[in-house]
Amino acid sequence: MSLIHKTSQDLFHRAQQSIPGGVNSPVRAFRAVGGQPLFLKSAKGPYLFDEDGNQYLDLINSWGPMILGHAHEMVEKAVRDALPGSLSFGAPTRREVEMAELIISMVPSVEKVRMVNSGTEATMSAIRVARGFTGRDKIIKFEGCYHGHGDSFLIAAGSGAITLGVPDSPGVTKGVANDTLTAPYNDLAAVQTLIDANPAQIAAIILEPVVGNMGLVAPAEGFLQGLRDLCTKENIVLIFDEVMTGFRLAKGGAQELYGVTPDMTTLGKIIGGGMPVGAYGGKKEIMNAVAPAGPVYQAGTLSGNPIAMSAGMAALSYLNEHPEVYTQLQHITDKLVNGTMLNMKQLGLNYTINQVGSMYSLFFTEHPVTDFASAKTSDLELFGRYFHEMLQRGIYLAPSQFETLFVSAAITDELADSYLAANLEALQALKA
Ligand SMILES: *Cc1c(COP(=O)(O)O)cnc(C)c1O
Repeated sequence: MSLIHKTSQDLFHRAQQSIPGGVNSPVRAFRAVGGQPLFLKSAKGPYLFDEDGNQYLDLINSWGPMILGHAHEMVEKAVRDALPGSLSFGAPTRREVEMAELIISMVPSVEKVRMVNSGTEATMSAIRVARGFTGRDKIIKFEGCYHGHGDSFLIAAGSGAITLGVPDSPGVTKGVANDTLTAPYNDLAAVQTLIDANPAQIAAIILEPVVGNMGLVAPAEGFLQGLRDLCTKENIVLIFDEVMTGFRLAKGGAQELYGVTPDMTTLGKIIGGGMPVGAYGGKKEIMNAVAPAGPVYQAGTLSGNPIAMSAGMAALSYLNEHPEVYTQLQHITDKLVNGTMLNMKQLGLNYTINQVGSMYSLFFTEHPVTDFASAKTSDLELFGRYFHEMLQRGIYLAPSQFETLFVSAAITDELADSYLAANLEALQALKA
């Protein structure tokens, strides 16, 4: 069995002449798994099709947004219906009000919300607002959490930055780095130490309430509530970066699932239904600091874009009105996870699987994975081989050990069975 990737290889060769590394976002280049990236042409439901005409079952789903599967009828119709209106006004529209009201109704912590164009913009803006609101400069983040490519976050950052081996990206100034403190994930005592060492200087603590960017890592019992209590006591703005988990783990995200309410929330990915959208929101008194209501500047020419809002509204409304989607996603993901465990048992393997809702990761380590240090005990060479064994069997996984998989509602029981058959063969091939 060997899929032909000739057109992808030719395109990648061309791309490298005109685009840095041949890609518009580093993880796409397959550097962490070796080999060459596939150039995709179309997608429908659970499937991707590449330029060579190969078909794959998609376990990335554009890193989350395609939670309903590709080319979902409702979302496509919403975009088609919006097209004759205009591609952009740069002026207020009814759709933005409806979108804000919908987000507020779905996400527990959000009383007011501002739309932006990416997750990166959302997190950059949220910490600016937290700093403006508190009058403090420093923030705390966690090793292995990824919050987009803003300077303040590229300090021992996760995701692409891990696998590229540039935890401190050149170009990020020492001045900026000085204001970002980092703690190991799930380590409340380390956070307490940082707060004690920087009394009344911490504007915000930002984290992924469930981490997707070092592979899937769940918050330990009491971790989120512990942070909530510390932030309340020290007047620190608690920011949940729910760019991945928002509208995925529940309609109200991880904050609904764990019953812990942050002061601010950043959103992205699913919120645009596949279009470039982000948002940040939170308590009224904090969001009222944002211009023109307040003094903290933040703006965007294309923010609230009518087509992007239409796609996002369609996706969010669907999720809001169909809670059974979450039950189904849980069922299919449980099946994938339990089946993978059975496969490993059958082969005498003992790797670690972490799962929360419709996100999961298979780590090639026998250690429990609870933070970045334990994630890094994984055998990355073995992961790379596994990735390619799965790809050859028509399964498209995230091309890095330090990424989570995202299950879509288009994956049926039958497809889960074929996934598990491929998984068994791939694991067998690794042992050979
Ligand atoms: C993807 C991601 C971001 C960045 O979003 P972009 O739209 O890629 O800029 C921020 N935070 C988290 C948790 C993410 O997963």
